[in-house]
Amino acid sequence: MSPDVKHARWVCLECHYIYDPKKGDPKGGICSGTSFEAVPDTWRCPECKILKAKKGVFKRIDE
Ligand SMILES: [Zn+2]
Repeated sequence: MSPDVKHARWVCLECHYIYDPKKGDPKGGICSGTSFEAVPDTWRCPECKILKAKKGVFKRIDE
């Protein structure tokens, strides 16, 4: 795994919201600097409210 994985952005395939670890999701209680892997499974996409735990919804963006 590349060392950049922790800083990878993830996209919600339902609504195309992008989770950026540099920003986190302050409104959702996620501090900036939190890798997507460290986000709790109970977190929901701020746009479409789908659960993070749902399989196949979020996809890592490889740059
Ligand atoms: Zn979404």
